[in-house]
Amino acid sequence: MARKGLLLILSSPSGAGKSTLTRMLMGWDPTMRFSVSATTRAPRPGETDGREYFFRSRAEFEAMVDQGQMLEHAEVFGNFYGTPRGPVEENMRAGCDTVFDIDWQGGQQIRNSALGRDVVSVFVLPPSIAELDRRLRSRGQDSDEVIAGRMAKSRDEISHWAEYDYVLVNEDLDTTFARLKTILESERLRRDRQPGLADFVRGLNREFEAR
Ligand code: GDP
Ligand code: ADP
Ligand code: 5GP
Repeated sequence: MARKGLLLILSSPSGAGKSTLTRMLMGWDPTMRFSVSATTRAPRPGETDGREYFFRSRAEFEAMVDQGQMLEHAEVFGNFYGTPRGPVEENMRAGCDTVFDIDWQGGQQIRNSALGRDVVSVFVLPPSIAELDRRLRSRGQDSDEVIAGRMAKSRDEISHWAEYDYVLVNEDLDTTFARLKTILESERLRRDRQPGLADFVRGLNREFEAR
């Protein structure tokens, strides 16, 4: 029997490094699936529909919500973001872990859903607010106005840190990534995530009896 895939939720104030860590995780473990969210925000340069996000109009987004296609959805920085349900359920059945780059509202909704038992949640903190501001600017993809808006919201996002199973302070990227892999590898080894264990131990017992 295959292991049911787990749901690895990463949240942080914008600019703390979730997208970077998510990309590194996907590169490290090709069986890991990224949950591509739907959003009403405009694509940034280099973003492709269906890869970073499904870019949708407000009307298309609302239709997805009305049809029950979203596992969760929320308004973030004046745009709508939501997690399509289908791919997540398919990954779980296939025994693949899914990584989510979503805000605290999305984390809360999935944790409180029927899938809550399968959630492992990680909050990423910046080493300082000055560094958060620097990273948002250095990404060079948002206007000054958008950056100011995101900085203003970061205090609110950070206030949800204690709702998460794990917290990473993303100072050195390689150190943070190593810690994230440790979290994932440990969570995969939890007894209740190893479905073949009872059979395996029965086999050990048969071996005892045959000695
Ligand atoms: P974007 O927002 O999608 O444009 O991507 P980012 O700006 O987050 O990252 C761009 C690239 O830089 C990615 O390939 C990252 O893996 C890499 N990167 C991000 N942060 C660091 C860092 O602190 N150190 C190193 N060595 N590479 C980084
Ligand atoms: P988020 O997805 O949380 O908004 P990103 O992953 O886009 O954040 O990171 C924001 C910026 O900070 C990017 O330019 C990224 O390269 C940089 N960054 C991420 N982690 C680190 C780190 N540990 N040290 C220095 N820069 C980082
Ligand atoms: P960005 O515009 O920088 O890609 O993302 C803005 C914020 O929206 C981030 O905090 C990100 O985690 C969050 N976000 C992205 N996708 C989703 C989603 O599907 N649901 C929720 N609730 N938040 C999301």
